[in-house]
Amino acid sequence: MDYKKYIKIVHDWPKEGIEFKDITPLMDNGKAFKSAVNEIVEFARDKQIDLVVGPEARGFIVGCPVSYALEVGFAPVRKEGKLPREVIKVDYGLEYGQNVLTIHKDAIKPGQRVLITDDLLATGGTIEATIKLVEELGGIVVGCAFLIELSYLNGLDKLKGYDVLSLMKY
Ligand code: IMP
Repeated sequence: MDYKKYIKIVHDWPKEGIEFKDITPLMDNGKAFKSAVNEIVEFARDKQIDLVVGPEARGFIVGCPVSYALEVGFAPVRKEGKLPREVIKVDYGLEYGQNVLTIHKDAIKPGQRVLITDDLLATGGTIEATIKLVEELGGIVVGCAFLIELSYLNGLDKLKGYDVLSLMKY
């Protein structure tokens, strides 16, 4: 399916010079959204996945329907201060400043096979931090799936050795 017709490009948002890819029209179209989710489910189908993990907030939107279809759990990765129980955390650099991501310490059991999902791969910082959290808990990252990859930002360089699916490339 040509998913790009459901992506709206918003110029200069959230700041000047950024061409923001808005996925909400894709989510708004039941057939297109289901088809995109199904492609990720098929990518994951033979990987014996135990758990889907996604960073807030759009990683939840992509990851939860995939986990539902595969009949496995979903563990959220969230910004600091959002998860109620004991967490592990990782610091990572943003274009300007630092960010912290966390996951519940008991979210993953050692040896569990994990699929990571997010809406979009840009510089790869968010996914790299998410991988660190999963691996620190002993999880095995068997795939990373995105709706969109911004190829010109070279996020794939941070994912060498991992199995990656992107449904759209810009
Ligand atoms: P990265 O860490 O630089 O790879 O940025 C990826 C993260 O930023 C993802 O969690 C995305 O949700 C978010 N993001 C960056 N650019 C866009 C965009 O154009 N549309 C939607 N989300 C974006």
